[in-house]
Amino acid sequence: MICYPKDVSDIEIEALNDYWTTDTSSHSGFTFSIKSIDENYKPKGSRSISYLAQRSSFGPNSNNFFCSDCNNKAPVKTRTSYINRTQSDQIIICGTCISDRKERALNDARAILENYKEENFRAWPYIENINTEEALALLCITSSNQKGGFLTDNPCELLITGIKSLDQKLLLSLIEKKALTFIRDLPDNVERASELLYGDYNRISYDRRSGRHIKYNNPESIARGLYLNALTLDSGIEVKGSDISTILYQKVQTEAVSLESVSSIKQTIKDIQTNKLFGLVMEVSEEYRVPIDNSNPLRALLDHLAEHYQPQNLFYTFRVKARNTAAFIHKDSAPHYIAKHYFTKSVGNFIQYIENKGSELERVWTLPVSIETSPFEALFSQLYLHGHFNWHKLSAKEIVARWLDNVKLAESALRVLSDETTQK
Ligand SMILES: [Zn+2]
Repeated sequence: MICYPKDVSDIEIEALNDYWTTDTSSHSGFTFSIKSIDENYKPKGSRSISYLAQRSSFGPNSNNFFCSDCNNKAPVKTRTSYINRTQSDQIIICGTCISDRKERALNDARAILENYKEENFRAWPYIENINTEEALALLCITSSNQKGGFLTDNPCELLITGIKSLDQKLLLSLIEKKALTFIRDLPDNVERASELLYGDYNRISYDRRSGRHIKYNNPESIARGLYLNALTLDSGIEVKGSDISTILYQKVQTEAVSLESVSSIKQTIKDIQTNKLFGLVMEVSEEYRVPIDNSNPLRALLDHLAEHYQPQNLFYTFRVKARNTAAFIHKDSAPHYIAKHYFTKSVGNFIQYIENKGSELERVWTLPVSIETSPFEALFSQLYLHGHFNWHKLSAKEIVARWLDNVKLAESALRVLSDETTQK
């Protein structure tokens, strides 16, 4: 069946009939060449056959010319398409059905994501279940999260206290209490649906402003990773994104801290400070090329130092002792397995000496930039230690004392802590 242009004359109909007359035995697949049709019909007043052919279409009654979806005729507009169509065994789908299929695929994808989100990202009333330390940790990782719930595709990179084992423990506990959801694996259909709607989430683009490679994720897309769950309040209201941070702030500022939280936060402060001191020891070890063994005596010493001394005073002491140790090792040419204990011994003896004398470490040395202030430390200082924006100038004991002065304590905690004070 041929579809002719509207304004066609009888002679042009004949020309078009010749144009679409097929002949399987001929080389081109058609009976008449374009040249011969023009030679035959142009003198009789027909327009050129290529002009007419462009405005016509051809759809013989064979399977190759029907849309497999709607069964409507799917004609071709050129001889080349005709040949391709008759020689291929591809299923034919008409333009309308292609856009219908696309539309349906998009709708299906939307429904799949919607379902998945409903099942996996439910809002939970977790605010009552998390303790002060967990609330602080959650604030550390959510305060910069203004858009959807996606936090990171690699939870190991999230920095809270800067101490890996402690950060992982806090994250796990927040996942357990349903403040966070970790999607380790995505079902194939969800991954495909997200990709269809929002593109490949693994695509990395270069960010000119920061000069870094970043992953852009549409907030509606779903990828493997860690998510902040929406929060249900007592009133039944659901809160998301930055509004959760506001509520967390209120919680840590107004809620009475339990005895349990007091001891776990105390320990965290101590751990952060000890970790900082360990970083300083590594720093002087490198600078003065002094071997220092990560031994039990060193850890015990740092534990004691973190509790009672300020990191910036200790850094001065470490530097002096490392310099002396280096000179001593050089002079003494002690074997490595002995030399690596000198620094710890030398610092330990010195601290013992000043403690016996009842004097203090007076000189300070500015901490190197490699000793970073963790988000936990920064947030804690901002909330409780007015004016002391880092802990380089405070011992763990001093940090805890300032904190307890600035925080509301639960009855049980008050009782135990006042007992401790009277016993001293
Ligand atoms: Zn169709």
